Amino acid sequence: MRALITGAAGQTGSYLVEALNGRGWDCHALVRSASDVEQGLGGSMTLHEADLTDFPAVDAVVATVRADVVVNLAAISSVARSWSEPVETALLNGAAVANLLAAVERTSVETPAHFIQASSAEIFGSPSSSPQDEATTVAPTNPYGAAKAYGHLLVGAYRARGMSASSLVLYNHESPRRPHAFVTRKITAGAAQIAQGSSDHLSLGNLDARRDWGWAPDYAEAIALVAEARVADDFVVATGEAHSVREFALAALRHAGVQDPEGRLRVDPAFLRPTDAVELVGDSSKIRRRLGWRPTVTFDQIVGSMVDADLLR
Ligand code: GDP
Repeated sequence: MRALITGAAGQTGSYLVEALNGRGWDCHALVRSASDVEQGLGGSMTLHEADLTDFPAVDAVVATVRADVVVNLAAISSVARSWSEPVETALLNGAAVANLLAAVERTSVETPAHFIQASSAEIFGSPSSSPQDEATTVAPTNPYGAAKAYGHLLVGAYRARGMSASSLVLYNHESPRRPHAFVTRKITAGAAQIAQGSSDHLSLGNLDARRDWGWAPDYAEAIALVAEARVADDFVVATGEAHSVREFALAALRHAGVQDPEGRLRVDPAFLRPTDAVELVGDSSKIRRRLGWRPTVTFDQIVGSMVDADLLR
């Protein structure tokens, strides 16, 4: 089987290439520049250079590779950045999905392909009830969520007219490969610095936000399962457990061996968001039931392995 993956140089993409390699798949990656791919990360893949918003260039790659499964992971991944670059976000997280779907539909006439979109819990905005599932109302509250919602709904529209396509609503997923723009990595890198004496506190925003933090390789595994089974449906991928930013920070500081963890937390209004969901937690019963997926790593193990990796760096 052959996969074409956008965003293969990112956290989830690199784990996905490893997971598909392990299953004997031939992986092709659509990357903006070959230099984006960190050496030694993400297994073996054939690189194709194209900017995702250069629509004719993307069409040419899709037509050349003729993959059995196309996975779209590329996106502006930070909610904060989507407010400063709303148009870029609309193009990359929204319009590029339309272009990919149309390209896959064209090539599917000869080589049927399955399309997998990486959607996000942010499509639910600030939901009034928890946990969320595949039937929860899509009501985003930031440019990132709005563009992801467009992609998610468009996958449904293409599926309704016969395309084999899935949208995976991925809740936050973390690992030592998580970029520093995300709160988990900011915390674990900060905890390591405090433990090593080069800093004395963590400056954060909303400590009470509750998120469903999973282990990124488990989420790559969910994508690989859907790729193998080619099930045309939407799936929430989440652990079902919510923890606050404060809990994450205290667990990281304790794991790093820092004295007085509570005293190390500072709130800096610069990191507060105008609209921030109180709690995002997903009900992943459907993918557990249909494909046997389940999270394999606990909250404490996620925190521990990220802190350990940052202490070593
Ligand atoms: P996101 O869910 O994709 O936006 O992932 P993030 O890791 O960036 O944010 C997760 C939650 O952490 C959100 O509710 C943020 O408001 C909250 N948060 C609190 N302090 C910070 C911070 O200093 N940086 C970031 N990125 N998020 C923070």
